[in-house]
Amino acid sequence: MRTTYAIGVDVGGTRIATGLVERKGRMIKEARALTPRDSGPFGIVDAIIDLISEVSSGVHPSEIAGIGMGLPAQIDFLRQTVEFCTNLPLAGVDMRSLTMSRVRYPVTIDNDGNCAGIGESRFGAAKGVRDFIMLTLGTGVGGALFLSGEPYRGSRGLAAEVGHMVVQLDGPPCPCGGKGHIESFLGRPALSVAGQEAAQSFRGRAIREEAGGDAERVTAEHVVNAALKGDEVAREILIEAGAVLGEALVGLVNLLNPKLIVVGGGIGESCGFLVDRAAEVIDEHALAGRRDVRVIQAELGNDAGVLGAAALAFDEHDSREGLHR
Ligand SMILES: [Zn+2]
Repeated sequence: MRTTYAIGVDVGGTRIATGLVERKGRMIKEARALTPRDSGPFGIVDAIIDLISEVSSGVHPSEIAGIGMGLPAQIDFLRQTVEFCTNLPLAGVDMRSLTMSRVRYPVTIDNDGNCAGIGESRFGAAKGVRDFIMLTLGTGVGGALFLSGEPYRGSRGLAAEVGHMVVQLDGPPCPCGGKGHIESFLGRPALSVAGQEAAQSFRGRAIREEAGGDAERVTAEHVVNAALKGDEVAREILIEAGAVLGEALVGLVNLLNPKLIVVGGGIGESCGFLVDRAAEVIDEHALAGRRDVRVIQAELGNDAGVLGAAALAFDEHDSREGLHR
């Protein structure tokens, strides 16, 4: 049977977003809540179930294809297990079964970067593009690789952690435990540290003012806000981050020859100049013939994860039922 709706769930380190979504990507109803980070996995599942009930109320269960759920974690997609999770206590937790024991729909879990990529691929900036790289710049740096029209998952479904590519040997620490990864330079904690260092000096006074005059309280958002108001020091921090991103992506562009690189996440979508700098560096350094790759900002904003998760639920439903998309 061809169902009308799917439920998309996007679990973030800060917020959980849920939506009832039509096949063409229209969000019919949405609900959000803060992630109860300190309540353990059961508390997080409780919050997810409440949001699912809210968006599905009044809809007959037979009309719902299933639930897709993006998690800020490394997911073994084939076994549907959570391998590793830095920001929430979900490592080793069977989120799929825990959720399915409480609702009457099938559940599919995936990495949040993949979900955002699926969302942009079906309904956003990468619509109709078969080969592209998705990057989400937020608290962490997530990613997805779309090759020949499908997300590339690797041998165990753990592929596409673009944010954990090494850009500097023995570089600054990354929250994953590694060193010198893209996330070490572009994650919110890294941008906060750069902003705090700048705010200590006279030159960084505009950044300091964003944080109420206290250099130690400067966050990534303060840096972004100061830059958007035209402060040169804040812009330099973000443009330098864009250059690091560009350098890192040169290797991927040379390797994979994508048509498009889509940059999303809170930081990516508010900092056009960071994205432009990355594009310039790729244009300067990529091998000949690959330089026509376009680097653009994502289009779906916060909805990318929910819409992509819902699309995943439709796909799983259709392949179970033997339907083609
Ligand atoms: Zn890392």
